[in-house]
Amino acid sequence: MALICATFFSKTTQQTIRDLKKASNADLVELRLDEAERVNFQKILSKKTKPVIIACRDKTNGGRFQGTEEQRINLLKKALRYKPKYIDLESDIDKEIIKELRKKAKLIISYHNFKNTPKNLEKTVAEIKKLKPDMIKIVTTANEIEDNLTIFNLLKKNNKITAFCMGEQGKTSRILAPIFGSLMTYASLEKNNLTAEGQLTLNELTKVYNFNNLNKKTRIYGLIGNPVEHSMSPLIHNASFKKQKINAVYVLFKVSNVKFFLNNFKNLTEGFSVTIPHKITAMKHLNCIEKSAKKIGAINTVVNKKGKLYGYNTDCIGAIKALETKTRIRNKKILLIGAGGAAKAIATGLKNKGAKITITNRTLNKAKALAKSITCDYKPLSALKETIKGQDIIINATSVGMYPGIKKTIIPKQLLKKVLIMDIVYNPLRTKLIKDAENNNCKTILGIEMFIEQAAEQFKLFTGKKAPKQLMRKLVEQQLR
Ligand code: NAP
Repeated sequence: MALICATFFSKTTQQTIRDLKKASNADLVELRLDEAERVNFQKILSKKTKPVIIACRDKTNGGRFQGTEEQRINLLKKALRYKPKYIDLESDIDKEIIKELRKKAKLIISYHNFKNTPKNLEKTVAEIKKLKPDMIKIVTTANEIEDNLTIFNLLKKNNKITAFCMGEQGKTSRILAPIFGSLMTYASLEKNNLTAEGQLTLNELTKVYNFNNLNKKTRIYGLIGNPVEHSMSPLIHNASFKKQKINAVYVLFKVSNVKFFLNNFKNLTEGFSVTIPHKITAMKHLNCIEKSAKKIGAINTVVNKKGKLYGYNTDCIGAIKALETKTRIRNKKILLIGAGGAAKAIATGLKNKGAKITITNRTLNKAKALAKSITCDYKPLSALKETIKGQDIIINATSVGMYPGIKKTIIPKQLLKKVLIMDIVYNPLRTKLIKDAENNNCKTILGIEMFIEQAAEQFKLFTGKKAPKQLMRKLVEQQLR
């Protein structure tokens, strides 16, 4: 088990007392004294209900303290009078000062690297050990997702240290700390009040990632793509793991080189969701690709079966299941707008179900190629008015109408008559296309339906268990409302 240390800047006495209360879910609290010249330490430290770490960092160590080194040490000494449990000092400060201050509190010696994650961290740990601290803390910067591996390897070789990476790419190591044996992870109280880059909030760690349930046996899943920051997959998959009592966690992997990533993370992870831009490129690095994913020419799911990677496409079945909640598909005339990754998956599913498909797309050549691959009709997007006539179902599989372009629609409102409209865009929940269709008394299927169905299929592939679809839907709706 790893402890969560809530960290925040102590600026005034009242604010610090308030923030100490907000940290009630944490195991420890780190008070950053960088701007605490006017804080009444007696008052705040008498209010503590958790073990407190004090630290004060200047600019060279990523902090905000602006005085001299002597003033910094004096500030720490002033706080030490009121008995915090730990003092955190940088590995490169004067050894005499370390000797003096450690008499008043337990000692954390920390190494920070704000540029990168060096490979030779063992040497750094060995140097710090000579100072005989109560705890060692190694904090580096991840520039690539693979930098987290250096930290995981360090943790495997050194029990009883705290180690993680800073930066957006370092979030993975902060979340996975209990799995690799870090003693602590640090969390902010609010999103806009971080003491270091890449910190998650206390709420995110405990509520989204179920941090307190993670341990060395937890199975790791995640999303690989670039960008991945706005994905809702961690929210729904982690909540589903919790609900189904599965010891697993789902994190975000922002990946630039998919081959390198799969080689390096294969041994640590059980499966992935795959998003843009790796849905096609990842395929050539897998051991086996399921038949319909092969036909579609793209995957969105990878499962690790005893070291062999299997690729699947759940967008196809997700879209078909969403459609079938409202209509039969066989012999229906369906206009599919779009010829990108999602459209390819949907077209393959529709064809298998016996629909009469017409494809239209902004770039006509792509519509033509997709139509040829599944043997169906295609038309230019400029002929939409004529193409729409007589269709039973229209599916928008373009990104038009997606946040932030929420005022746009691919079909003018006056053309929406007596037809079932399915929009696969799910952010916003109700796109302009869906609102226009509803206003014209058309039946509709929202993008969230396909999103939940494809995620549920993914969950089943990952765990062999049924996904709690209602819970998934509730969480996505809450997020997008
Ligand atoms: P993609 O491969 O990049 O394809 C984008 C499609 O949108 C292409 O057909 C593109 O046409 C068209 N397009 C983009 N901007 C356009 C514009 N201004 N006017 C007309 N057409 C335009 O993306 P994708 O993976 O297929 O995803 C498409 C959308 O579906 C995204 O919004 C995505 O979030 C959503 N999606 C939803 C689910 C779900 O579960 N609900 C699953 C997957 C995707 P060109 O070929 O001419 O560029």
